[in-house]
Amino acid sequence: MAGTYFQVSVNLPQVSGVFDYHLSQELEGQIQPGCLVAVPFGQQTLQGIVLQQIEQPAVPETKPILVLLDPQPVITPLQIELANEISHASLAPLSVCLDLMLPPGLSQLGDTLYKLEGGVLAVGSGFSTLQLRLLQLLSQRGPLRGRQLEVAFPRQDWKKSAQALIKRGQLRAVPVLPPPSVRPKVVRTVQLSCSPERVQANLETLGKDAVLARRQAILKFLFGEPMPVEVAWAYAAAPGGKLADLEYLADKGLVVLGETEVWRDPLDKLEWVVDEAPELTPAQQAAWQSIAAGFEHVLAGQACSPYLLYGVTSSGKTEIYLRAVAEALRHGRQAIVLVPEIALTPQTVRRFVARFPGQVGLVHSELSPGERYDTWRRARAGLLPIIVGPRSALFMPLSKLGLIVIDECHDDSYYQSEAAPFYHSVQVALRYAHQTGSLLLMGSATPGLNLFYRAQREKWNVLHLPDRILAHRQAVQNQMERLGLPEAQVVAVGGQEETASLPLPPVTLIDMRQELKDGNRSIFSRKLQAGLAKVLENGQQAILFLNRRGSSSYVFCRNCGQGLLCPRCNFPLTYHSAGEALTCHICGYRRQLPHTCPQCGSAAIRQVGIGTEKVESELQALFPQARILRWDADTTRKKGSHDLILSHFSNHHADFLVGTQMLAKGLDLPLVTLVGVVLAEAGLNLPDYRAGERVFQLLTQVAGRAGRSPLGGQVILQTFQPEHYVLQTAAKYDFDGFYALELDKRRQIGYPPFCRLARLEYRHLKNEQAEQAAFKLAGLLLSWIKEGGHSASEIIGPAPCFYSRLNGVYRWQVILRSSDPAAILRGRALQDWRVEIDPVSLL
Ligand SMILES: [Zn+2]
Ligand SMILES: [Zn+2]
Repeated sequence: MAGTYFQVSVNLPQVSGVFDYHLSQELEGQIQPGCLVAVPFGQQTLQGIVLQQIEQPAVPETKPILVLLDPQPVITPLQIELANEISHASLAPLSVCLDLMLPPGLSQLGDTLYKLEGGVLAVGSGFSTLQLRLLQLLSQRGPLRGRQLEVAFPRQDWKKSAQALIKRGQLRAVPVLPPPSVRPKVVRTVQLSCSPERVQANLETLGKDAVLARRQAILKFLFGEPMPVEVAWAYAAAPGGKLADLEYLADKGLVVLGETEVWRDPLDKLEWVVDEAPELTPAQQAAWQSIAAGFEHVLAGQACSPYLLYGVTSSGKTEIYLRAVAEALRHGRQAIVLVPEIALTPQTVRRFVARFPGQVGLVHSELSPGERYDTWRRARAGLLPIIVGPRSALFMPLSKLGLIVIDECHDDSYYQSEAAPFYHSVQVALRYAHQTGSLLLMGSATPGLNLFYRAQREKWNVLHLPDRILAHRQAVQNQMERLGLPEAQVVAVGGQEETASLPLPPVTLIDMRQELKDGNRSIFSRKLQAGLAKVLENGQQAILFLNRRGSSSYVFCRNCGQGLLCPRCNFPLTYHSAGEALTCHICGYRRQLPHTCPQCGSAAIRQVGIGTEKVESELQALFPQARILRWDADTTRKKGSHDLILSHFSNHHADFLVGTQMLAKGLDLPLVTLVGVVLAEAGLNLPDYRAGERVFQLLTQVAGRAGRSPLGGQVILQTFQPEHYVLQTAAKYDFDGFYALELDKRRQIGYPPFCRLARLEYRHLKNEQAEQAAFKLAGLLLSWIKEGGHSASEIIGPAPCFYSRLNGVYRWQVILRSSDPAAILRGRALQDWRVEIDPVSLL
C-alpha cells in the first residue's frame, strides 16, 4: 500500500526509540523533518519529533501521526544531526538529546492520570499507610498525574502502591499527553475602519456626557495611528475607556478590533548606554587579524581550526568577541555567545547588549517560560542574530550560524551534570561549529588542561593576550572624581596611549604554620590584617575569598601542613564526622582518624571547618567599623540577589566582600585593591584528579579581581602548604609552569588527557543496595572488557562518591578507564545507572 511514512523520535526517556508512522490525509503536505507531533504509542499518546521521511516502514502495520503541534519545524536539520551525535557520544537516548533544543514547556512527556474508580473513596481494610495516603490525596484533590504524585510522595514507592490499588479495583490509570505549557502572548488591537470624514459625521451620535467624551477621545487618538495599536494605548488616550467602548464603536463600523502576537522580551527592563568599539591594543590587533583571516576561510566554506584566546584577566578578550560578532553579522551570519552564568557575568552581557542594541537575545534560567519561549521563537524567525547565554544558548534554532564564542571556556558550568544527556558545551560546540561551518572562538585566562593539550596536539589557533589593559584614562579619571579619590593614591601605570596597561597584582604566599608558631591564632595572618586596615584607611575595598568546596571535609596537620593520603592510591582521604572515619572515595579504602600526624608526629591534626560566616564574624570582630557584605549560596537564594550584592559593593556601600566561588567570575571592581584568600589549599584535598587544576584556575581568577585600576593592588594567599606546586605556580601567574607539572603528574597516574574516563553512578535510598549494585556492575564491566578485548581498559573502585549522600540518597560509583570507554558501554543495559563519558568531576 502506497503512503507517506516518517521516522519519529518518541519523547519517552526510558525508550531510546525511533519508530515509523504514516501520515493521515488531513496532514498530507504539512509534515517535514523537525516537526513536533503527537503520536500513538502503545496505550498512550506521546510527543515526538519527526526525523525524516522514509520509503518503506520497518513494520507492516504503522499507526498514524495524530496532530501537528506547531505549524513550523521546531528543530533544524543540523540540530537533528547534532542531537544524533550527542546521543552517540554520551550514550543518552536520542529523545532527551532532541529535547535539549526545545524551550522548556514546549516539550511534554506522556504521563499517566490516576483517579479513584467511580470517583469515590472506597472504605476497606488491609491498605498500607502509603496506599491510604494516596487514596486520601486523590479524594481531596481529584485526579492527579504521575509527575504530581512524584512531588507529593518524594522518594517513596508510590507507584507500587498505585499498582496494588489498581489491582484491587480502587484506582484507574489513564495515559495522557499534557499540552505544551507555553504559548504565544496575544494582545488585542484596535484601528479605524473607515474614512476620517465618516468618523467626523458620527462624532456627536456616540452616547452622551462622559461616555461620549471618552468615545470621541478614542477616535481622535486613532486618527493619528495608521497601524493597529494595542487597546491599552487607546484606553490611555481616553481616561475611563474600556473594552465596551471599543466594542460599541466596532458595532457602529467605525473601528475594527484585532489580535496580534507580541514578544516577551527580557531585555525590555535593562538599561544601557550604546557603546562604540574602542581602538585595539597591539596585542589585541594581532589576535584580531588572525581571527579575521579565519573568517575568510569560514565564509569561503572551508574548514577552520578552532581559536583559543588565552589572555590574562582583563586583557581585553571581550572586545575581541565583540569584533568577531560584528564581523559575523556584517556577512549576514549569526552568532552564539556562551557565558558561564548570566547572573554572575552581568558586565559581559551588558557590553553585548550595548554594542548591538535590539539584536541580542538572552537565554538563561531566570527567564519566565514565556520569555524563554518567545526568545526561542524570535531566534527561529531569524529576528535575533545574536544569542547570549549559558550552555543552553548553544541549542537555539539559528539557521545562518557563523560564529560560536565560549567565554571563560574553562568553567565547569559548561558541563551538564544534572540529567542525561551529560555533555560538555565545548565538545558539543566543536561538533556544531564543524557541522554549521562556523568559526569557534574560545577564551580563558586559565584554559583547562585537557583542552589546552588538545589545542596543542591538533594545532588549533592559540592566541595570546599577555597584558592587562587598564580602563581608558578618561574613564578612570571620571570614576576617581566620582568617588572623590585623591590623586596621591594612584600607582604608576605603563603606556602613553589612551589605553594604558597595568601589571598583574603581586601575590604573597603566607605560611600559616609560622603564624601559629609565632602565636597568631586568628584565621587572618598579620600581613592580611595590616592590608585590610590600610584598605579601610584609604577608603578602598577588599575581597576575602574562601573556597567552599573541600573546606569542611579536609583533615590536615597544622604543624607540617600535610593532608592525609590514601596508602593504596595516593588520593586525599576524606573525613566524615559520623564515626570519625577517613574514606578514600577513589578506591574505597577506610581507616580511623589517627591521633598524631603520620608525617611529623604532631597531635595538631584536625579539620579545617571554616565557613564564610565564620570569616565574616571574625572580620567584624577585628574591624568593628567596617561594612561587610557576604556573597555565598546562603545570601543569593532569591532571584536578582547576585545583582543586588554586586551593585551594593561596586557603589562602595561596603568595604569588604566575603565570598565563595561566585567571586571568581569576570567582575570589574576598580576600588578593590586587596584580595585575600583565607585558605589557599582548600580544594586541593578533594579526591578528584582535576582538584589541582580547579584550585589553580580559581586562585588565578580570584587574584585577577585585585588592582584593576590605577589604584593598584595586591593578593595575599594564606596556606599551610606554601611548597605545593599549585600554589607556587598560581602565585606567579605561571600557567605554563603549572601546565607542565600537572601534565607530568597526569601522565604518571594515568588520567586524562592520557586516557578517557566513564563514571557510572548508582543511587539508592539504602546504602547497602547501592554498594551491592556497584560491586555487581564492577564484575560485569570486567567481563565486558574481557569479552571485547579492550586489554588496556580497567576499572577503578567501586567506592562511595565523595558526596556520598545527596538529598537522602546514597551514591556509589565505578570509574572505567579506557581509550574509548563509550565503546565498552554502548548497547549495554544501564538504565538504572547515571553514565557520564568524560565527566568533569569524580566527586
Ligand atoms: Zn604533621
Ligand atoms: Zn584510595
